[in-house]
Formats: sequence, structure tokens, C-alpha cells
Amino acid sequence: MHCSTDDRRQLETLLASNQELSVLQARLDTLDEREKLEQLKAEQIKARNEQVRNRAAGNEHRTDVFRLRQEVAKLKERERDNRATLSTATDREQRRDLKHDLTTTLAKLEDFEDRLERAIHTAEFFDGNESEQPDAYQATIREAEENVQRAENALRADMDAAAARVQAAREQLNDEVLAAYDRGVEEQGIGAAWLKGRMCQGCFMELDPASLRSIHHTASHQLPRCPECNVLLLVYREDE
Ligand SMILES: [Zn+2]
Repeated sequence: MHCSTDDRRQLETLLASNQELSVLQARLDTLDEREKLEQLKAEQIKARNEQVRNRAAGNEHRTDVFRLRQEVAKLKERERDNRATLSTATDREQRRDLKHDLTTTLAKLEDFEDRLERAIHTAEFFDGNESEQPDAYQATIREAEENVQRAENALRADMDAAAARVQAAREQLNDEVLAAYDRGVEEQGIGAAWLKGRMCQGCFMELDPASLRSIHHTASHQLPRCPECNVLLLVYREDE
């Protein structure tokens, strides 16, 4: 295929700029900054859920404290009543019953006071455990969003520049080479490839010595193809 020195330069630019575009696109699709942002958002949701759970548990424990305080107050009142009645009662049987009731009341009171103390501790723990502040994530997330935006803008600027180089090369390349390049892209995903040493960078096959000789002896205004994958082959030429 006929190919002037200038055509070959355009073809090299076209290939390099298209490859650059693919690399930039892949980088845009898998931005570290975006991954970091997603991670922060997930952590924020987790912290929010935890806060909701903690608050619910805290309410429950506060209700426990309230209920136990009422029990303790009732038992203390009963203790007071028992003692007051005992101080005046003279009937033997009545005194025996009152003493028995007082013993039971005191045992219960001790038990409920213990439970109340534990419940107060637990409620205080949940109230003091508001350290997982989801709002604290807001600023970090905003910063992460800005980082994503900045990285995307930088990549998009590079992509625009590469796309402009592709466009300029396409406009200057001769029609026959351009058509062959486009056919290669359509059929094999690559329009041209460099020969590096003995290996075609399109199909990554090592070419046999006879093919290599014939490729290296191709006239400078001709464009060889890879005998394995048929892609247009670019060869480093020492004379250029
Ligand atoms: Zn090949």
C-alpha cells in the first residue's frame, strides 16, 4: 500500500493518540479518587445507621432507668410503711407477718437498687457514645468530591487534546491508508501496530525470518502488513 513519509508520520500519530485515548478512558473509568469517595460515603451510611441504633438503644435504657426508679421508690415506701406499723403493732401474729414482709421488701429493694445502678451505667454509656458523628464525614466527602472533579477534569483535558490529534491525523492521512486503518479497527480492534524486534505488537506473534526480511525490505513509500494478523505494520526506520 502506498504511504508517503508524511502519511507514515500521521499514521504513527493516529495510532499513538488512539492508544493514549484508550489508556485515559480506562483511567477515567477506574479513578482512585472515585473509589475513595464511594468508600467514604459507605462509611457515612454505616455511621448513620449506628447512630440510629445507638439512639434507639439509649432510649430503651433510659426507659429501663425510669421504670426501675419507680420500683425502688415503691419498695422504699413499703419499707417505711412496714417500719411505721411495726413500731405500733402489738399483736404477735401481725408483728410476725410485718417482719416477714419487711425482710422480703428489703431483699427486693437491694435487688432493684443493684439493677437500677447497672441500668444507669448502661444508659450513660449509650449517651456518651455519640462519638460516631456522621456529620463529621460531610467535609471529608466534599473534599473527596472535589478531588474526583479535579482528576476527571485533568483527564478530560488530556482526552480532548488526544482526540484533537486523532482528528488532525485523520484529516491529513491519505484515504487509502485511513480506510485500511479503520477496517483494522473494525475487524480486529486495532488499525496499525509497531513491529518491535521480531514481534508484531498487534497480534504479539514472533514473525519468521523470511517475513521479517521481506518487511524490512519493503520500499520506504510502501506500508507492509503483518503476515499473521494482516494489520498495517509500522517499522522503525533508521534513515528517518
Ligand atoms: Zn500481527
